[in-house]
Amino acid sequence: MKTDKRASGQKDRIKTRMAPSPTGKLHVGGLRTALYNYLFAKQNKGGEFWLRIEDTDRARFAPGATEEIFAMLKWAGLNWDGEPVVQSKRLEIYQKYAQQLVDSDHAYYCFCTPEELEKRRAEQQAKKQPPRYDGKCRNLSALEVKEKSASNLPRVIRYKVPASKTVEFDDGVYGKIKYNSNDVDDQILLKSDGYPTYHLAVVVDDHEMGITHVLRGEEWLPSTPKHILLYQAFGWQPPVYCHLPNILGQNKKKLSKREGDASVEDFKNKGYLPEALINYIALLGWNPGTEQEIFSLSELVKQFDINKLHKAGAIFDGKKLDNINGQYIRKLKSKEVINFCRPYLTEIYGDALQNYSDEYVASVVTLEQERLKKLSDITASTQFFFTDNLEYDAKLLIWKKSDKTAMSDNLTIIKQKLADMGEWDKPNLEKEILQFIKDKKLTNGEALWPLRVALSGQENSPGPFEIAAILGKQESLRRIKAAVDKL
Ligand code: GLU
Repeated sequence: MKTDKRASGQKDRIKTRMAPSPTGKLHVGGLRTALYNYLFAKQNKGGEFWLRIEDTDRARFAPGATEEIFAMLKWAGLNWDGEPVVQSKRLEIYQKYAQQLVDSDHAYYCFCTPEELEKRRAEQQAKKQPPRYDGKCRNLSALEVKEKSASNLPRVIRYKVPASKTVEFDDGVYGKIKYNSNDVDDQILLKSDGYPTYHLAVVVDDHEMGITHVLRGEEWLPSTPKHILLYQAFGWQPPVYCHLPNILGQNKKKLSKREGDASVEDFKNKGYLPEALINYIALLGWNPGTEQEIFSLSELVKQFDINKLHKAGAIFDGKKLDNINGQYIRKLKSKEVINFCRPYLTEIYGDALQNYSDEYVASVVTLEQERLKKLSDITASTQFFFTDNLEYDAKLLIWKKSDKTAMSDNLTIIKQKLADMGEWDKPNLEKEILQFIKDKKLTNGEALWPLRVALSGQENSPGPFEIAAILGKQESLRRIKAAVDKL
C-alpha cells in the first residue's frame, strides 16, 4: 500500500510522533519506532517529528524515565521538533473532549465499582464468556446519572461503542484490517481521578497535534479499531497507521525490556556508537533491497521507504551489530577512539592508569582499534599492557612441534639481540628479528610465537613487533627473561 500521502483532501505536510510511556528505560524497539518516525518525517519536505510523553498511567510512571528517554534519543541523534507534549499537563483537554462525547451520546457515565466489575468478570469467566463490560450503566436515565453524581459516587466515562458496525482501515504494513464493533468493549475513556485512558488521550492528541502518520509497535494493532471508532465519534479524520512488527530475540520471542541488554542505555554503556546502533536498528524491519549495509543517518533519511516495511518480526542479531559497530570504530580518528576508550580503562585501573603516560595509553588503544567490536572490549583485550605480572602457562610458549629447550634458546638469543639494538621501534625490531630467523634458518613460528607469548601471555594478540614497540625496551626484555625463566 502507498502510505506516503494521506487520504485525499488532507494536508500533505507529514507530521509523525513517538509517544513513549515513561515506565522505564528506552528499549531498542522504542528506538526503532522513534527512528522510523524520524526518517519518514525528515524525508518529506517540511516534515516534522514530535515527541509526546504518555504519562497518564500514574501507577506505572517511573521517575526519571522521561529524562532518560530524552537523553537516549539525543545520544542517538534523533532530534525532535518543538517542545515535547506531556499528557499529564493536558488533563482539562481530555476532560473537555470526554464530556463532548457524553453530550453527543457517544459516551456515558459509569458508576460500577471495581469490586462489582471484578465480580461480574469472574461470573463471565465461569460461563466461559469473554471478559468485557456488560453495559450496566449504558442506559441510565438522565435523572439516575444526576442522582448518583449528586451523591458523589466515583464515576468514569465509557465509550458507547456502536453496535454491529464494520471498522475498516488500511494499515501501512499489515494491509486491510476489518473488525466488527461488536468485538470492541465499551472502553473507559476518562478514569474516576480525571485522568484519561491511553485510548482517549492518544486519539485527542494525535488529532490536536495534527499527526498524519502513526508508526508504532504491532502490540497496538488490536487497539486501532477502538481509536478509529473514536475518530468517527468525534467526526475527525484518522491518521495513516503503520504497525511495526516486534523485534525478536534469538528464541524468536519478543525482545523484552526485562532482558537487560535490550535497553538503549546498556548498548551505550557497552560502547556501541550511536551511529552504528541506529544503522543496525534501521535494518530491523526494513532493507534497501541492495547489498548496502552501512548507512549514515542522512543516507537513511534519503533511502528509507515506508512502503517497504517488513511484516515479519526481525531477529536481533548481536553479531551483526558487533560487526557494524566494529566498522564504525575503525572509521574513527585514533584521537576519538582514545577519548572514548579511556573511561573504560579508568573504570578498571582507577588512579593506577596514571602510572602510564598518555602516549602509552594512546598507542595501546590505537593498536586495538582494528579489532574492537565495542569500546568496552578495550579492557579485556589490552590487560597485558597494564600489568607487570603476566600469568600464563609455560606450555603456551611452545610452538607446535618444538620443545622447551629450543624455545628457551631462541628467546635467549632474541633477548641478547634486542638488548644490543639501537633505536627501539617497530621497523628496527622487525628487521633485527627477521634477520635472526634467517641466520638461524628457523621458521617464523619458532621465533615469533614464543616472543609474542612472552610479551603478551595470550594465545591471540597483536604481533610481537607492535607489542614490543609499545612496551619499550626495558619492559620487553624483562618479559622475555621471565619467559625464559618459566621454560
Ligand atoms: N504510549 C504508547 C507506548 O508506550 C504509545 C502507543 C502509540 O504510539 O500510540 O508504546
